[in-house]
This record gives sequence, structure tokens and C-alpha cells, in this order.
Amino acid sequence: MTTLQQIELTCPVCETHFRSQAVVSTNSFGGKRTDFHERAAGTQPLPYLVHMCNRCGYTGAERDFTEEADVSPMLREQVWTELAPQIAAQSALQGEIQGAQPAKPAVLGSEKYEAAAKVAEWQGMEPRHVADLLLRAAWCCVDEGDIEAERFFRRKAAWAFERALDGFDGVAPEERAVLTYLVGELWRRVGDLRQAAAWFDRVPSEIADRRRQRWVLDTARQQRDEPREWFG
Ligand SMILES: [Zn+2]
Repeated sequence: MTTLQQIELTCPVCETHFRSQAVVSTNSFGGKRTDFHERAAGTQPLPYLVHMCNRCGYTGAERDFTEEADVSPMLREQVWTELAPQIAAQSALQGEIQGAQPAKPAVLGSEKYEAAAKVAEWQGMEPRHVADLLLRAAWCCVDEGDIEAERFFRRKAAWAFERALDGFDGVAPEERAVLTYLVGELWRRVGDLRQAAAWFDRVPSEIADRRRQRWVLDTARQQRDEPREWFG
């Protein structure tokens, strides 16, 4: 089972105190998709691993709400101009539908990861980190049943991983093969089989350790020739 707990956070951008749900424990009994999307039995933990300030829209993991958070005046301004208006629009909408419907669920997981990816980009984080957040946004879309948004985020994640792989030292040598595979798998899941095959075919040249990375080679070939949705 996934266990959640309410936590209190203070936004480093606007000083608002707010409550959010955080993951205490989870499991991986739901299997793992071939894009490394690990599933839990019961509640999926992903949406609860990031938190969004309900006043300005600043979003991040729990540590991004501590003194460790890197909040420059520039970041503050970007949050106020880009994320805050979305929050305002959302709560206006919520006000309109209140009464007619049960309270709208808190912000969607994909929306939180999208905001977190923007914040990470504004903070000048590595493309690799931004790519991870975009991939998680896509995974949330799977659970939200939004195929169009899922493809949108898969594309954005693929481009961000490509940027990371292009960078001089954006990715450790022993990780290059698996990320190259992942880019292929993202394009496959978007439906662009030509790009997918090109990335799968590039995997052998990125192998750093033949013995330990055999599975990456095998999986890349499998996903190119006879794709599967799940590992195992
Ligand atoms: Zn805030």
C-alpha cells in the first residue's frame, strides 16, 4: 500500500504556509513499464512527490521548500509572471463550479511536474533533471487518462534527454546507453517509429560495460523489433 501523510510547507517565493500530501511509503507491486514507469499497487505515489504552492504556483520536491531551495530574484519574478496567473485562473474556475460539483481534486500530478520542470529550468538545473520531471509528467498523464498530454510530455522529455546526451558531460558514461534506449522508447510511445528505431540502433555504440549492460542492448533490440509494454 502507498501511505500518504499531510505535511506543512512554507513557500520560499511568497512565504505562504500551506498543506500538501506527501508519500510516507510505497511499493512497486504494480510492475514496471518499458519506459521505467514503476507502478504501485493501490494509490500511485508520483503526484505526491512534488508540491505546489497554492498562491504563486512555485513547485518542487519537499527539499525545494527548505533553506536549500535556490530562489533568486529572477526565479521569483518568473514564478509570479508565469505560474501565478495559472493558479489564479484555476481558482476562479473552481469558484464557478463550486456548489454544482464536489470540490475539484487538487492540482493534477502532471500539472505539478510541468511546473516543477519550469522551475528547474529557471534555476538552471541540468537538462537531465528537467527531463526526469517531464517524464514524470508523462507518467502522471497515463494515470490521468490524458493521451494527448501524455504524448506532449513524452516529446518534451525526449528532447530534454537528447539535450542532456548532447551536452559535454550531461550524462555519466555508464548511463548513456540506458538514456539512449529511453529516448527511443519515448519516441516509440509517441508513435514516431522512425525516430524510435534510430535511437534504439544507437544504443550499441553507447555501451560502456558489455557484461553489465547486456540487458540494455537486448531491450533496445526487443523494443525495435517486437515491442513490449512491460518489463518482466
Ligand atoms: Zn508561493
